Amino acid sequence: MLLRSISKHVKDQNWFAVGIDFFIVVVGVFVGIQVSNWNQLNIDRKDESVLLHDLHTDVESVQNLSKRLIKSRRNVFKDLGDLVDTFTGGKPVQVFDKEVCMTMLASSIFYIGRAELPSLIQLRSAGRMNIIGDKSLQKSLAKLTQTRESLDIVSSSSSIYITHISKNHSQFFEFGSRFKPDVSNPGKMERHPTILSCNVEQLLSSVEVRNALAINLELYDAVMRDGMEPWVAQLQAVHHRLDELLQIQHTTKKVN
Ligand SMILES: [Zn+2]
Repeated sequence: MLLRSISKHVKDQNWFAVGIDFFIVVVGVFVGIQVSNWNQLNIDRKDESVLLHDLHTDVESVQNLSKRLIKSRRNVFKDLGDLVDTFTGGKPVQVFDKEVCMTMLASSIFYIGRAELPSLIQLRSAGRMNIIGDKSLQKSLAKLTQTRESLDIVSSSSSIYITHISKNHSQFFEFGSRFKPDVSNPGKMERHPTILSCNVEQLLSSVEVRNALAINLELYDAVMRDGMEPWVAQLQAVHHRLDELLQIQHTTKKVN
């Protein structure tokens, strides 16, 4: 219609009318683009709101699932430090019991689970990270990914040099297994290894075992300092920012 009108005005050499026609076309295209942008913006804002709630659910879930393992790794790290300090003379001699054997076994275990945020993975793979409008949250999420990668790298590189006391010195142990309540899943039970007996004095009189424990402590320290603690702190930073954006107030403090 408009094209026919332009052709007619060109044919009639009515340049003023041609100019008006062109003006109508340009304004029409401009308004069309603006409406389309506005619609897209509205869709993005709605998607962002859903995403922030999904992210909050995922972060809470990761924090709850990893809580027990994080607590356990911190305990092992402290107990292992105490044990090495004791036999290197840094601390007064203590009475060694079966708990020390558990610390020796756990000194080679760093694993804290594959704690990814499904909503973040989905967003990345769809190439839609830009729908997160808050720059602070964007930065925080990028740092979370970075700290998780660092944790994976430091854990796997330390695992190469770690000594598995239970494997290399199994003659000093007798193992069993039993069910215990699963802290992450209330009402359910999970299997736990248990030491039926171990010869602590013989284990600690071995230079090989003492050396292995001292090296395991160094590696554990690296994993905690450069891997786990920065990741735990960043997970909490993301949670904190999400709470601010969604105006969520928790009655209890959700910190790992
Ligand atoms: Zn929260």
